[in-house]
Amino acid sequence: MRQIDHFISGGAGAAAKRFGDVFDPNNGTVQAQVALGDAAVLERAVQAALAAQPAWAATNPQRRARVMFNFKALVEANMDELANLLSSEHGKVIADSKGDIQRGLEVIEFCCGIPHVLKGEYTQGAGPGIDVYSMRQPLGIGAGITPFNFPAMIPLWMSGVAIATGNAFIIKPSERDPSVPVRLAELFIEAGLPEGICQVVQGDKEMVDAILDHPAISAVSFVGSSDIAHYVYQRGVAAGKRVQAMGGAKNHGIVMPDADLDQVVNDLAGAAFGSAGERCMALPVVVPVGDETADRLKAKLIPAIEALKVGISTDAEAHYGPVVTAAHKAKVEGWIQTCIDEGAELVVDGRGFKLQGHEEGFFIGPTLFDRVTTDMSSYKEEIFGPVLQMVRAPDFETALSLPSKHQYGNGVAIFTRNGHAAREFAARVNVGMVGINVPIPVPVAYHTFGGWKRSAFGDTNQHGMEGVKFWTKVKTITARWPDGSPDGGNAFVIPTMG
Ligand code: NAD
Repeated sequence: MRQIDHFISGGAGAAAKRFGDVFDPNNGTVQAQVALGDAAVLERAVQAALAAQPAWAATNPQRRARVMFNFKALVEANMDELANLLSSEHGKVIADSKGDIQRGLEVIEFCCGIPHVLKGEYTQGAGPGIDVYSMRQPLGIGAGITPFNFPAMIPLWMSGVAIATGNAFIIKPSERDPSVPVRLAELFIEAGLPEGICQVVQGDKEMVDAILDHPAISAVSFVGSSDIAHYVYQRGVAAGKRVQAMGGAKNHGIVMPDADLDQVVNDLAGAAFGSAGERCMALPVVVPVGDETADRLKAKLIPAIEALKVGISTDAEAHYGPVVTAAHKAKVEGWIQTCIDEGAELVVDGRGFKLQGHEEGFFIGPTLFDRVTTDMSSYKEEIFGPVLQMVRAPDFETALSLPSKHQYGNGVAIFTRNGHAAREFAARVNVGMVGINVPIPVPVAYHTFGGWKRSAFGDTNQHGMEGVKFWTKVKTITARWPDGSPDGGNAFVIPTMG
């Protein structure tokens, strides 16, 4: 059986003691085994990083940017192979895998301009003969711990900015789809990155804990579910590290009575069911304002949902593929049952979906609930599957309060033709990323990605200038070049600029 190894110092790691199963979600079989590493494996990666990082940090930013240009071209040249590999382990359809890679590449494009954003600030003549300037320096060694649902985009969010700013970077991918990050690390080396600057350690909690406790790792960027994010944040900070930890989500789509409902239905179908709902920026909750809006929306949603095609990830006609594992399928179907038990109205039931020829695949049909209420646990918690819950709101203020009061605050969208309502909503909603007639408001790479409340722990976002801030520390230099005349100052008084 195929084995998926670590990628340390430009090559594979040592023989593993433990392995994890990597499934083929289309068929429900085990297709590979991934090494599950420990502190000894991590130590080898850290030593390689320590040896390589000073020279990389001393490499001028323009040369570092050239590696990013080369890397971008190599990923593009290998797009088909990477997308196939990604789909085969994750289950998302090929076009969606290409989108996953492309959104990550856009961060690499941002990193091609790294010399510009690292320029620092300068004040000439801050005092007599005194100039003040600042520079951003790398932290040393950074680590990334990533979830299963974007096995290309999220590793690229982190590795691009960490590496371009002069750090060595160690990534611990999800053990459920661990191959793509290894291929990306190999392509970085082919692009001219020195060995030891981008490495992959495979593993589960044991490896995560080793990363969080290692004194030579200065910063940890985590993306995954909220309980683990909180754990990683607390343990990493306690060990003196800089930590950003993005968590789960339950994004709401508010539909105002004046919205273009055909457009909304189209947007909701993609945002709720695309990638089988396994996106932190999916829209699993729709909030129509007023019963009349809800009834009109429901009437249009039902046929649109029933027309969705669920298929294997290589089926070019399929709208979405299987979920990632049998355990995840059972969890999502468990939430569907809970939502029924809690009294919601099951409008379209996706359970029991079987794809001919792939009966053991991890497929779930699209599911729609109406009359979901805020006291239901199935509303409060993240389901992370192809399930759309409709919560009816009597008015704008109630609709605004739902995402604002929810424990998660990753993304939210409002659909309306009313500029004033949209403007009010964007300003007042207690959520980190807002879409106005945009169902999945993932910001472009030169802006920044991050939610609020239990969707993110730590205070800097991913990519854009926030990413640069996370992966660097600021040094500020105050330089004085006296002209030779006596200054008569008193060295015992705190210096001021007068
Ligand atoms: P997960 O929390 O199970 O795993 C994430 C990472 O944590 C993996 O690398 C995993 O190996 C590690 N891990 C798992 N259990 C651990 C433990 N007990 N101790 C230490 N480490 C552990 O998440 P997942 O199922 O891979 O991904 C889906 C989740 O990620 C969803 O909740 C989704 O909303 C979230 N997500 C959030 C964002 C965001 O930016 N906010 C983006 C993508 C995904």
